[in-house]
Amino acid sequence: ETIFELLQGAMAAHPDREALIFPEHGLRLTYAEFGAAVDRLATGLLNLGITRGDRVGIWSPNRPEWVLTQFATARICAVLVNVNPAYRVGELEYALRHVGVRALVLADRFKSSDYLGMIRQLAPELDTAQPGALMAERLPDLRMVIRMGDGTDIPGMLNFAEIAATPSDTARLDRISAVLSPDDAINIQFTSGTTGLPKGATLSHRNIVNNGHFVTRTMGFTPEDRLCIPVPLYHCFGMVMGVLGSVSKGATMVFPGEGFDPEQVLTAIAAERCTALYGVPTMFSAMLDTERFHHHDLSSLRTGIMAGAPCPIEVMKRVVSQMHMAEVTIAYGMTETSPVSFQSHTDDPLEKRVTTVGRIHPHLEVKLIDGEGQTVPVGTTGQLCTRGYSVMKGYWNEPKKTAESVDAEGWMQTGDLAVIDDEGFCNIVGRVKDMLIRGGENIYPREIEEYLFQHPAVQLVQVFGVPDEKYGEEVAAWIVLKPGISATEEDIRSFAKGLMAHYKVPRYVRFRPELPMTVTGKAQKFVMRDAMIEELG
Ligand code: ATP
Ligand code: MG
Repeated sequence: ETIFELLQGAMAAHPDREALIFPEHGLRLTYAEFGAAVDRLATGLLNLGITRGDRVGIWSPNRPEWVLTQFATARICAVLVNVNPAYRVGELEYALRHVGVRALVLADRFKSSDYLGMIRQLAPELDTAQPGALMAERLPDLRMVIRMGDGTDIPGMLNFAEIAATPSDTARLDRISAVLSPDDAINIQFTSGTTGLPKGATLSHRNIVNNGHFVTRTMGFTPEDRLCIPVPLYHCFGMVMGVLGSVSKGATMVFPGEGFDPEQVLTAIAAERCTALYGVPTMFSAMLDTERFHHHDLSSLRTGIMAGAPCPIEVMKRVVSQMHMAEVTIAYGMTETSPVSFQSHTDDPLEKRVTTVGRIHPHLEVKLIDGEGQTVPVGTTGQLCTRGYSVMKGYWNEPKKTAESVDAEGWMQTGDLAVIDDEGFCNIVGRVKDMLIRGGENIYPREIEEYLFQHPAVQLVQVFGVPDEKYGEEVAAWIVLKPGISATEEDIRSFAKGLMAHYKVPRYVRFRPELPMTVTGKAQKFVMRDAMIEELG
């Protein structure tokens, strides 16, 4: 099945059911209206000369235009390129050049980021170009910029609303969609950049349509379900697990806001009677800690997914007891595998859901390997490898990097360390890159984070290694304290001493008002490590 056939299925089965709700934009579309809007936009893009295989970038927070563009590009077999909403000029240039983006759809701005200003900086030619016929020195492949805002002051730009109002030429679109193959590249997604420069994973219809299906099937989604999606659309969590997962079941998607605001999310859940909620663990903590948490009626919630980063056990317990998500699941995945490969079932014992990422998804294989590539015995820690329909086609234009990650037999090496028990439940121990060795002892920062998280003053904590002359590496912790509660370095260290072996106790403890994060809400340890190295001289 292609992405477009997925939407056609939902349109045929539930034309009058609500598909998309954007309270902030006052927009509600049924599946029939949604499909019709996609065809208008797709026709408009065709008229601009965008054809099969062309890369179309989208740079925007969660807005209706995002989802329409996702399906309209799929309809005409163009390749959608998800551009990270947090990018600055240099990163934007890298991403657009790297995959040869021909058309860029963009919002005017997001929070403090001036998208229009940045694209004009990269392509000053926009101020004099004919719309659609851009020739920019720094972005040689870019021909057009399509703007969601409605100013008319930039002559070289096209207007999204106008293109999206093109009368549909359904017959022409159907001729194009008829030759789509499920194995066509349909999407280039950049990884989060948690460990360094983001990588562009090329994904096919088969990759992401199937993954979306299995993700929501695991939670028992029906057309009655209403999913609240506060995670970014640019990331597979939003566009695959959220959008494709919902469309595959004819369920309703609720997008609470352009950026993540805990109060706004809680309000949307209550107002729209959402049954399911997605988020990374830091989002759930933020919601649970909002001042007005208890004022919101969250009783409609049943299930959802926490994924993307390790979830502290305490947070998981509160999500079940205070957010009514008795059937919450944990998922593990990565952009390169479309993304999910492990997920807990809604009826797994809570203890398993709290401590593991569940079991392998249908039609996927898994193995754990040691440093020499040998499979390790059950119950032993090793690098997680997965194989099956979900493994990406490759990193765009980077055969060498692809070969380093996906071997000749199709195994994706995830870069994550895991243990799998004899019932198949998987526990992610940390990233291969994050493991540190202090005086010959292997240390998994994740374990120390779990312990420190139990300290009553700790809201967020990240543990990482810094180089040390005597021990090779030393343990460092960055902590964000809960509002209004204080603690000293000594408090934290003596708390740690009571819970863990001496060599794991952080030598350095630093308090920070916030941690360096990717837009997907993951802490960037490489940034913290660099800052500590600088501080320590
Ligand atoms: P980059 O590859 O650019 O450094 P990234 O790996 O964070 O960034 P993503 O593809 O968004 O980019 O994230 C996948 C990674 O997120 C996994 O490899 C894993 O380390 C982590 N992860 C995902 N889900 C979980 C989970 N449930 N528990 C623990 N870690 C998780
Ligand atoms: Mg990664």
